[in-house]
Amino acid sequence: MLKIDSITKKFGGIVANNEVSFTVEDGQIVGLIGPNGAGKSTMFNMISSIYQPTTGSITFLGNRIDKLPAYQVAPLGISRTFQNIQVFKSMTVIENVMVGQHMQTKTNFSGMVSLLLGSRSEEKLVYDKAMSYLEFFGLENLFDQKAASLSLGKLRLLEFARAFATQPKLLLLDEIAAGLNHKETLEMSELITKVRDSGVTILVVEHDMDLVMRICEKIIVLDQGTKIAEGTPKEIQENEAVITAYLGA
Ligand code: ADP
Ligand code: MG
Repeated sequence: MLKIDSITKKFGGIVANNEVSFTVEDGQIVGLIGPNGAGKSTMFNMISSIYQPTTGSITFLGNRIDKLPAYQVAPLGISRTFQNIQVFKSMTVIENVMVGQHMQTKTNFSGMVSLLLGSRSEEKLVYDKAMSYLEFFGLENLFDQKAASLSLGKLRLLEFARAFATQPKLLLLDEIAAGLNHKETLEMSELITKVRDSGVTILVVEHDMDLVMRICEKIIVLDQGTKIAEGTPKEIQENEAVITAYLGA
C-alpha cells in the first residue's frame, strides 16, 4: 500500500530523516517509534505531503505522491491526526465530523456551508452518517457540544472520528494516546484495531509502548533520523540497538 524509499529530509543543517525505507502492507497496523526528535512526525508530514522530501520517493497504491500538494493526497485515501490536536474548537462535535465527510465527498466550500446551514436535501443523509461515525467512536451523546468543551480524551477521539469520516484507505495516527489515562489508552487501542478491522490500514506514531506492542504487526524504529530496526513487537523488544537508543546510551 505504502512504500517509503530512501527518504531524506533536511531542515537547513538538521537531518530529520536519513535514507529511511519501509513499507506498509494493506490491512496492517504498523508502528513508527523512536525517541523525541527521531523524525517520526516529519515522516508523517511527508506522507501527507505537508513537506516534500529532500531526496527519495513515496509511493501510495502504485502512485508517486511525494511531489503532490497535500490537497491532492487526501482524496487518494490518506488521512491523519496531529500530535497537537487540530479540531475546529468553535464547531460542535457533529459538525467536525461533517467537515471530514465533506473532504471525502470533495464538494466545494460553499457546498459544505450550505450543508451545515441545512439548505440541502442531502443534509439529513450526511447528518445521519455523521451520527453513525460518532456512535462508532462512542461520542454520540456529545454530538451538539462545542469541541472546545471536550476533555483531552474526547478531543482525541473526535479527531480520530473526523479522520475516519474521510473514508481513508491509510490512516496516520500521530501520538493519538498522548495524555490519556490507562483506561482511555486501552479503549484507544481497541478502537484502532476496530478501525483496522473495518478495512483501514494504519500507521501509528506512539510513545505508549504497551499500546504499540499490543496492536502493531510490524514496528519501525527511528533514532536521530535513521531507521535502526524493523520487526515484530517481540523482535523490537529484544533488539540491542533499540534498547540502547531508548536508554540514551
Ligand atoms: P519526532 O516526531 O520523532 O519527535 P520530528 O519529526 O518532530 O521528531 O523532528 C525531527 C527533527 O527535525 C528535530 O530535530 C526537529 O527539531 C526537526 N524539525 C522538524 N520539523 C522541523 C521544521 N519545520 N523546521 C526545522 N526543523 C524541524
Ligand atoms: Mg512527533
